[in-house]
Amino acid sequence: PRTYFVGGNFKMNPTTLEQKRVLVKTLNEATLDPQTEVVIAPPALYLISVLDLIRKDIKVAAQNCHAKASGAFTGEISATQLKDAGIPYVILGHSERRSLFHETSEIVAEKTRAALDQGLKVILCVGETLEERESGRTQQVVEAQLQTVIAVTKPEDWSHIVVAYEPVWAIGTGKVATSAQAQETHAETRKYLASAVSPAVAESTRIIYGGSVSGVNCNELTVQPDVDGFLVGGASLKPEFVNIINARK
Ligand code: 13P
Repeated sequence: PRTYFVGGNFKMNPTTLEQKRVLVKTLNEATLDPQTEVVIAPPALYLISVLDLIRKDIKVAAQNCHAKASGAFTGEISATQLKDAGIPYVILGHSERRSLFHETSEIVAEKTRAALDQGLKVILCVGETLEERESGRTQQVVEAQLQTVIAVTKPEDWSHIVVAYEPVWAIGTGKVATSAQAQETHAETRKYLASAVSPAVAESTRIIYGGSVSGVNCNELTVQPDVDGFLVGGASLKPEFVNIINARK
């Protein structure tokens, strides 16, 4: 059985140290299902202080990293630096990075390789736009995004990768995928991993869903056999994040 996984992607939030302190305090005082793997991804500025202050059963992720270890890359943070700072996870390939910051699947693959080489775990985001879904290309897009990473990894790397299926049209829109849509894409994606990597990797890899997940809609999604958890944006900044962590019965 795959361990249920819930990530909180804070994105460029919150905007004050005080709000960050309150967020950490709320999580530290919450009753969390010990069976859920919980990872929060605060902005880079807050990574070290959150790592220091957060309860030890919640892990910390960066939202991005650079593929090179060091050097003249103004504004960037390397996987090497994350590793040294004790940050165990990094989110890579988020649709906001792909679209707003022009990250191609090749760049995402390079970063994934660099992160894995440092011993970091990767939350690898994939997902289609509305236009791609409406033209029936969802699976083709998701598989192409995965393929570039598969090309630079070995089967054993996949125990360090969580796949986050995040349809672009569902991110920050309040338009959550239906549980049937999520289940279908997750199942197809698992089938693809079975053929492109290995059946064992397909069976053990967590495929989590992201896109307008709330404390309410998570209940229907979480009972789908191929939905292994969530990557939560907006709701991870709210008390309902605890409901999502505890959603699996
Ligand atoms: P929302 O939950 O705000 O839609 O964001 C999802 C997301 O992008 C998580 O990475």
